[in-house]
Amino acid sequence: MATILVLGGGYAGMRAVKFLQKSAPATDEIILVDQTAIHTEKTNLHEVAAGTIDPAKITYDIPSVIGKRVTFIEATVTGIAVADQTVTFADHPDLQYDYLIVALGFQSETFGIKGVTENSLPMDDLATSEAVYQHIEQTIAGYAKTKNHDDLKIAVCGAGFTGIELLGELTQSLPKLQAKYQTPAVKLVCFERMPSILPMFGQPLRDYAINFMAKHDVEMRLGASITEIQPGAVVYQDENDQAQTFTANTIIWTVGVSGSHVIADSNFQQRRNRVMVEPDLSLADHPEVFIVGDVSAVMDPNSNRPYPTTAQIALAAGEQAAKNIGQLRHDQATTPFVYQSSGTVASLSDRDGIGEILSSQRQVHGYMASALKKVITDRSLMESAHLSTMLHKGRFDLYH
Ligand code: NAD
Repeated sequence: MATILVLGGGYAGMRAVKFLQKSAPATDEIILVDQTAIHTEKTNLHEVAAGTIDPAKITYDIPSVIGKRVTFIEATVTGIAVADQTVTFADHPDLQYDYLIVALGFQSETFGIKGVTENSLPMDDLATSEAVYQHIEQTIAGYAKTKNHDDLKIAVCGAGFTGIELLGELTQSLPKLQAKYQTPAVKLVCFERMPSILPMFGQPLRDYAINFMAKHDVEMRLGASITEIQPGAVVYQDENDQAQTFTANTIIWTVGVSGSHVIADSNFQQRRNRVMVEPDLSLADHPEVFIVGDVSAVMDPNSNRPYPTTAQIALAAGEQAAKNIGQLRHDQATTPFVYQSSGTVASLSDRDGIGEILSSQRQVHGYMASALKKVITDRSLMESAHLSTMLHKGRFDLYH
């Protein structure tokens, strides 16, 4: 009998426990640990932050979807000692393991930029994303008393996937807030260091997204490298290297993510809290430890670069790590992780988006892309939880 411990109930961890139940011998003990008993579909946090979705739609109760074989423990991991095969917690006695899957997910990254933590709003989990929407609504509501125009300005820092998808949703929810509180138009401004957005898409799709923003009066300040966040102000170098300041009473930070701080706290060799793993997703010299999702960097043998950190890859890696533990338990060799992406989609609100379908080399935009994103969301709900969760929480408005 062996104890298999899975840390993290996100995309990778949930998928791993699902497969461990099939791959591990019946006598093995499977334990899943997370600091909360609620799983969040984090690819939809931008909708919570913009107030366009009920948070209950993107969460589910972990104990109710894991099988009977899995023991769930609600506890906060503080450290992993691979030499002792032990995990420590803030609020639970240490646990020993024979096999470990580390799937502790991401956190918002400040890149050491001054004032980010104190003066801007991250959106890395349900609580912080709900706080973003509360802040937006309270600030707009407050305008009636203050008449301060900075209450009607929202700065989104970073035009990666999160920033762009958030802006898309805000174009839907802000007109409703303006009408509710009878304010003048709320100004949305996005600051991005690169001269263009979303370099993974071809130029026509990038242009489509830029045009979408222009059509909805979103101002994109490209080539704007943020150097500091002050209370109520974004400080940046513009494309001509001039220092600029933009004042706004809502500043949202979507400038990138790193893996969980537990990785650095546990003295793993890492970069931005990501550990470079072996081809089979195990830790070098520790075939009993697998590191998956946003805390790992996995080389893509085709491109010779690490795979990007996406929910789809986290789901696939969680499954492969579980299968590899099953293979080890049956004295078989492990299988290297290979992922063939079927494409990428970025939503621009509920009804619009851009996407690339790799299998058919097709580029899609508009309603078609947003429908594709909903299909991906539905599939991921089914893969991380099960069919009935998908039926309760999935997006079905595209089917009629
Ligand atoms: P990101 O790293 O993808 O984007 C951050 C953006 O901030 C980049 O465009 C970067 O150039 C910009 N930036 C960095 N430093 C800056 C500075 N000082 N000033 C101005 N701009 C600066 O991060 P993200 O959008 O939070 O996404 C995190 C991860 O999650 C990524 O791997 C992303 O691919 C993934 N994700 C995918 C989807 C999807 O597939 N639909 C959705 C959300 C997130």
